[in-house]
Amino acid sequence: MDTNLPASANPRVVIIGCGFGGLRLAKALRHAPVQVVVVDRNNYHNFQPLLYQVATGALEADSIAYPIRKIFAGQKNFFYRMADVHRVEPSTNTVVTSVGDIRYNYLVLATGSLTNFFGLESIERNAMQIKSIPNALNLRSFIFQNFEKALLTENPEERQALLNIVVVGGGPTGVEISGSLAEMRKHVLPKDYPELDLRTMQIFLVEAAPVLLGPMSPASQADAKRYLDELGVKVLLNTSIKKFENCRAYFSDTEFIPTENLVWAAGVNGAEVPGLPAEAITRNKRVTVNRWNQVVGLSNVFAIGDVANMVTEDMPRGMPMLAPVAQQQADQLAKNIERLLRGEAPKDFVYTNKGSMAIVSRNKAVVDLPKNVHFNGFFGWLTWLFVHLMTLVGFRNRVVALVDWAFSYFNSDQALRLIIRPFSRRDVKDDKGKKSAEHRTATPEYNPTPPAIQTPV
Ligand SMILES: Cc1cc2nc3c(=O)[nH]c(=O)nc-3n(C[C@H](O)[C@H](O)[C@H](O)COP(=O)(O)OP(=O)(O)OC[C@H]3O[C@@H](n4cnc5c(N)ncnc54)[C@H](O)[C@@H]3O)c2cc1C
Repeated sequence: MDTNLPASANPRVVIIGCGFGGLRLAKALRHAPVQVVVVDRNNYHNFQPLLYQVATGALEADSIAYPIRKIFAGQKNFFYRMADVHRVEPSTNTVVTSVGDIRYNYLVLATGSLTNFFGLESIERNAMQIKSIPNALNLRSFIFQNFEKALLTENPEERQALLNIVVVGGGPTGVEISGSLAEMRKHVLPKDYPELDLRTMQIFLVEAAPVLLGPMSPASQADAKRYLDELGVKVLLNTSIKKFENCRAYFSDTEFIPTENLVWAAGVNGAEVPGLPAEAITRNKRVTVNRWNQVVGLSNVFAIGDVANMVTEDMPRGMPMLAPVAQQQADQLAKNIERLLRGEAPKDFVYTNKGSMAIVSRNKAVVDLPKNVHFNGFFGWLTWLFVHLMTLVGFRNRVVALVDWAFSYFNSDQALRLIIRPFSRRDVKDDKGKKSAEHRTATPEYNPTPPAIQTPV
């Protein structure tokens, strides 16, 4: 297949991935004397920080995604190909994609990350993840399908497993989704499911570390925990899930929580692309780069964002996998590519940490700013809303998100509860193309009076 890219007198910069890093880089190169070719398997840019709001019915999927071609309409040096990148061949400066081969002068990997299941196969097969828009829509459908099933079953134990939700991973995503689900349980579900006794529905947030929100300040960690406690989320710290099968999330061979709904938000690996030198790939599949984001051992291949492992003195384990890191690296790399074209030496990347934040529920968020500034509550919540609204791509998306949030705030409601794509785990293929097994492989032996965490008889 021919990718039909026009010939150009200018060097070609191929960017794999149009997430936070790829999008920013392609924009920053708009006036550079290069041909920019972006390859992404999706024809839209996905604003991942708000995926959990799609999963819990607070925002439409369309509000957090934006068509790539529309973003770049009018940028004359920009070309896009919707394709999966299979591998790169640095010896011939070629990217091998599902729509044909693309040659490059400079290559930039901005492929982001993939969910890391830490080798726990039963969890990989059966848990819900939240990394993409289809994941978020599946999660929303699945939870509402299970509420419908809970109405029908005569078996109290089965009903309990259908209602219980276990979120694994106490980072911002885990905290945000648990808080949002607890709000849904309080405000939305009693109206929709008056026949269900929702006092029995339990939401667990499970974290292996002794605190939530690991990289944030102790004050934010404590505030987030307190907010979740107030919402009735059962936070289990120093706790690891070992397996998830037959509607049971096991902590050990004997202890488990009965649940159909396990949301895995416990970690990510780099989304490396095959073909790079083996010595450049780290244990968590990130690509080692120097301070110019140049992949070790290759002069014209760069990596930015989540997939790039840039180690500095103050960050010996690599830069954090955050949107601002990807965007700042993109800005610096655009300048460095222009420097290289002019025959000048590139400059080192320096990360400016502008702070971090997490929302728990309405009026409750935690914010850490540089110089040990911390605030929370309503002001934190307003800050979170403002920052996320302003960073959404596209004016329409900002307006729609604002309207949806205002509606939810004043009505204590979330309008988006449609099961428009009924979800079965059998239909899902994972990132490696493997089909998932159906979770409910056997009818569990139900215990007549289940405590929150059980030991099988
Ligand atoms: C649920 C969730 C919540 C988050 N919340 C926050 C937050 O609050 N604040 C924050 O700073 N960060 C947050 N993050 C992290 C943030 O989203 C990432 O750090 C950021 O997206 C990294 O940008 P990137 O450009 O490296 O990759 P991404 O934005 O992930 O983009 C990667 C792109 O590459 C494409 N791609 C990958 N492989 C291929 C391939 N082989 N072929 C073709 N295309 C490919 C993908 O389709 C995607 O479009 C969150 C992440 C998640 C999942």
